[in-house]
Amino acid sequence: MNHNTRGEPMRLLIHSAKQIVQVTSGREKVLKGAQMKNIKILHAKPGDGLSIVINRLGDIEAVGFDTEISAKFRTNVFERRVDASDQCVLPGFVDAHTHPIWAGDRVHEFRMKLAGASYMDIHNAGGGIHYTVEHTKRASEETLFRSLRDRLLRMTKAGTTVAECKSGYGLNADTELKMLRVLERAKRELTFVDISITFCGAHAIPKEMTEETATKAIINDQLPAIARAIRLGEISVDNIDVFCEKGVFELESTKRILEAGKTMGLRVNFHADEIYPLGGAEMGASIGAEVMSHLEKISDKAIHEMAKYEGIAVVLPTTAYILKLESPPVRKMIDANVPIALGSDFNPNAFCLAMPMVMHMACILFKMSLEEALVASTINAAASLGMSETHGSIEVGKKGDLVLVDVPTWEHLVYQFGEHDHLIQMVIKDGLVAYDKS
Ligand SMILES: [Zn+2]
Repeated sequence: MNHNTRGEPMRLLIHSAKQIVQVTSGREKVLKGAQMKNIKILHAKPGDGLSIVINRLGDIEAVGFDTEISAKFRTNVFERRVDASDQCVLPGFVDAHTHPIWAGDRVHEFRMKLAGASYMDIHNAGGGIHYTVEHTKRASEETLFRSLRDRLLRMTKAGTTVAECKSGYGLNADTELKMLRVLERAKRELTFVDISITFCGAHAIPKEMTEETATKAIINDQLPAIARAIRLGEISVDNIDVFCEKGVFELESTKRILEAGKTMGLRVNFHADEIYPLGGAEMGASIGAEVMSHLEKISDKAIHEMAKYEGIAVVLPTTAYILKLESPPVRKMIDANVPIALGSDFNPNAFCLAMPMVMHMACILFKMSLEEALVASTINAAASLGMSETHGSIEVGKKGDLVLVDVPTWEHLVYQFGEHDHLIQMVIKDGLVAYDKS
């Protein structure tokens, strides 16, 4: 519940906006195909701006013209007013795929890649994920929490109000549990962002293990330890992830791990068909995976299967850009009615956490329209986390998560590449001001 300085519950009024980009207005849970182009936008009239009321629970209570809202509510019910004159209001962004908790940056590998090394060259030389794992194992929970909080705050300043956050730089039960405890602390303590927690212990094969021993360690050691910590109320986990790739966890191991997670009640949300066309997405579709990420090498059959059961494809333009990967067939997936969501894939290998930049890259690299990129960063990304009933659009009854932007029209936030720090004036999370530029 929102409170004023005297500890009393309060209502928030945002008024005089020139555009409210609702995205959806009919409680749609996910948009696909041509629906992704048709977003709902309210425009101010001459002399009459637009308002949003957020109630004492942080939920949107009303959306409409200033005159309608002032006729409906007495002025003294608002304890805080935000003048959004000349601003456009968008839903808070949902980042559907991030790896935000780790120690040890990899700027030296960025240099190696510029000199021609591939992701797998670095991985096989003991760098990449293994380098981050070594540093993350040594880091204290407090150190990890502080850097996580800083990164999440930077995401929020760029408009993100919900982020999927993966563990996965531990690769053993102790360090994975440490990461999950830190994510849980962030989920409970940080008011500026909602977190969907993903266990990604199958992110790489530990150096001393084989695919088979690593798979057994996850199923027989890590998952039971996690289930115990969940039962004790120490952590909560929403999703299970595996890096399904040739030479890492291949189809059979991936399936065994995902199914073990599924029996614990976790949503299946995994990395598939990024570098080699292994058939990961076809396997994922066969077990009804709610979400699959990357999909640069997805087969036509898997696209067809995903469309049939509404499996959500999370596509990641920063990785495609940084690793110079072939883009996933996003147009083909949209045409086939596969719902598309976007994620920053923020990690030490792809250091970008700003969804406005991700949307811009999705437009250029994946040939998405501005509307499709916005849908993929709001309602569809929320759907990928099972949160679209409460998040991802500006509708009465949903959470008051908003981004106020000083631009002629909302499209400028995507068009003006890298200018989000300058353009975003305020971010509101659950009706509270999470970031105020002024
Ligand atoms: Zn990833």
